[in-house]
Amino acid sequence: MPTSHTKYDPQNVFAKILRKEIPCKAIYENDFVLAFHDIAPQAPVHALVIPKNPYISYAEFAERAAPEEIVAFTKAVAFVAKELGLSEGGYRVISNTGKDSGQEVPHFHMHIMGGRPMGFMG
Ligand code: C5P
Repeated sequence: MPTSHTKYDPQNVFAKILRKEIPCKAIYENDFVLAFHDIAPQAPVHALVIPKNPYISYAEFAERAAPEEIVAFTKAVAFVAKELGLSEGGYRVISNTGKDSGQEVPHFHMHIMGGRPMGFMG
C-alpha cells in the first residue's frame, strides 16, 4: 500500500536498515547518507540513496534538511551512479513522494536506475 504518513514512523524498513536491525547490500555511506542495492531491482542497476536523518518524503527533506545535508545527498547520488558504472550509459533518478506517487517506504529515498534503455515511465 502506498504511504500517506504525516508523522515519521521509526519502525519503517529503512529506519531498521539504518539501525542495522535488518541487512542491506550497502554501496556507500557517509555522515549524511547510506546507499544500497534495491532488494527488488526494476533495472539491471537499481540502487537507493537515503538520508540518515528521519524525513518521510522528498518534500519534507527539501523543506527541513540543512543545506549541507542537501548538498551531501545530491553529491552522493551522482557519486553512487558513477561508482555503479552508469556514467556512460546514463541513468534515471526518481523519488516517489506521497500516496499518488506510489511511495511505499515512508523514509525519503532516491532511486537510481540504469543499465538498460528506459521508456518515459518504466
Ligand atoms: O519509492 P518506493 O517507496 O515505492 O520504493 C521503495 C523501494 O524500497 C522499493 O523499490 C523496494 O524494492 C525497496 N526496498 C528495499 N529493501 C527493503 C524494502 C524495500 O530495497 N528491505
